[in-house]
Amino acid sequence: MTRPLLSHILTRKGPDHYHWYHVIFLTRPDHWHLHYPHCGGRSQSPVDIRTENVIRDPRKLAPFLMKGYDSAGDLQMDLENNGHTIQINLQGKGMSITGGGLSNVYMAHQFHFHWGKTDKRGSEHAIDGKYFPMEMHIVHYNRKHKNFSQAVNKKDGLAVLSFFFKVGKNNVNLDPVIKSFPDIPHRDDHTTIKKLFLRKLLPQKLDGYFRYHGSLTTPPCYESVTWSIFYNPISISEKQLQSFRNKVHQNFANETNRDISDDYRPLQPLNQRTVYNSKEYD
Ligand SMILES: [Zn+2]
Repeated sequence: MTRPLLSHILTRKGPDHYHWYHVIFLTRPDHWHLHYPHCGGRSQSPVDIRTENVIRDPRKLAPFLMKGYDSAGDLQMDLENNGHTIQINLQGKGMSITGGGLSNVYMAHQFHFHWGKTDKRGSEHAIDGKYFPMEMHIVHYNRKHKNFSQAVNKKDGLAVLSFFFKVGKNNVNLDPVIKSFPDIPHRDDHTTIKKLFLRKLLPQKLDGYFRYHGSLTTPPCYESVTWSIFYNPISISEKQLQSFRNKVHQNFANETNRDISDDYRPLQPLNQRTVYNSKEYD
């Protein structure tokens, strides 16, 4: 997470937003804290999950209940190249989650991807030091805070469902996104997609996941995220990954093309935090 959160904030900043782009994206992640003190906090994301240190808490970490995820395919969705990721906006679609040890209903806001130039990297989180070629974040906000902007800096403000990808067979559930890439090659390009079945895109079994409290992975790095990182990966073919790497760019249309690959933040120290899980990880 999450360039998209950032773009959301940026657009709210009005005429000043080119300054923000400059500060954030021409500054290396290890300098973010100079401009955004939260980025130097003690509960930052992503982290490497060391499975031997994880504490099991099946009573609290019950299965998630997803509302509206199944009907997503009937909805038109806005797909955006924001120069940092490919993001599908879900505001106002009535999709939400409960359960999963969350204290309230969390409304789906957007989802987006992080991927690498090669299969050896791309995910933000790691498990026992191992990275995945891609990671997807579905960002939700706590309904008690009314909207995303109110929730973004509250301790219980956001819940992100995170999914790893593994290279395997072609995933038809990703096609609505990938086939739209020719329509959104450059930053700030938007298009509308249909027939994206979000629940079908996710692994069938969602009962196994890790849980910890962390942050946005882009400035301003608020420590407002309840992370759920699922065991079961989503399949993607090498060819589909190549589309993410080659068909969308981080620049505006009148500039030289630079691809978006490697849009992940380096691992952050876990410090005093505990990672929990819902069941045994194997
Ligand atoms: Zn993200």
